[in-house]
Amino acid sequence: MTLKDNLENVEEKVQKACERAGRKREDVTLIAVSKTKPIPMLEEVYGCGIRDFGENKVQELAEKCEKLPKDIHWHMIGHLQRNKIKYVADKACLIHSVDSVRLAEALEHEAKKRGIEIDILLEVNMAKEESKFGFMPEEAIQAAEAISRFSHLHIKGLMTIAPFVENPQENRVHFANLRKLSVDIANKNLDNVYMGVLSMGMTNDYEVAIEEGATCVRVGTGIFGEREYKNRR
Ligand SMILES: *Cc1c(COP(=O)(O)O)cnc(C)c1O
Repeated sequence: MTLKDNLENVEEKVQKACERAGRKREDVTLIAVSKTKPIPMLEEVYGCGIRDFGENKVQELAEKCEKLPKDIHWHMIGHLQRNKIKYVADKACLIHSVDSVRLAEALEHEAKKRGIEIDILLEVNMAKEESKFGFMPEEAIQAAEAISRFSHLHIKGLMTIAPFVENPQENRVHFANLRKLSVDIANKNLDNVYMGVLSMGMTNDYEVAIEEGATCVRVGTGIFGEREYKNRR
C-alpha cells in the first residue's frame, strides 16, 4: 500500500460516512496527522492534494511548517505547555487542544503582544479518562464563558480524543455527547464563541465520528501507517 492508496481508502470511507449521515463531503475536513513522520512522506501526501496536517509537538510543527509549502493549514492537536506557545502562536491555523483557562490566558497574552488573533477549540475529556487532558464535560460551559472574555482568542468549537476501543461503535456516545455539549454552549450566545467545529474521530473511529457530526477528523495511522513508537493518549 502506498500513501496514495491509503489516502484513497480513507477518502472513500469519509465519503461513505458523509452519505450515510446525509452530510456534504465538503463539511468535513480530513486532517492528516503527520506526527513522527518524515518530511518526504508529508510531501507525498501534499502531492495528493491534502492541505491540512496535524502535529502534537510544537517543535515538530514549527520545523515542518518552515520546510513545507505555505498553503498548508497546520493544526496543533497535542497538549500545549504555556512556555511553548511562542513557537506555534503564528503557525497553527487552529489549536485544538486548549485544556485549561490558564493556557487560554497565556495564549491571549501572546496574541495581544503580537497583535494577532488565535483560533482555538476547547478539548473536552468526554470519557473522563484519567490519562487524558481536557476539560471535564461539566466544566466546559464555564470554561467557554471564562475564555470568551479573551478578545484575541476565538473559540471555534470543541475537540475530543475518544478512548481506544476495539469496537468504534463504543465511542458513538462520546461523539454524540460532544455534539450536544457544543449545542448547549452555542445556546449561551457568548461573544467570541462559535460552535461550528467539532474535531473528533481518529483512524479507529472517524467514520462513526462523521456520522455523529464531526467537522474535522484527525487521521494518522490510516494515512501514514503505524508510528514507530506509540504514544496514544
Ligand atoms: C496521534 C493523534 C491522532 C491520530 O491518531 P491515529 O489513531 O493514528 O489516527 C489524532 N488526534 C490526536 C490528538 C493525536 O494525538
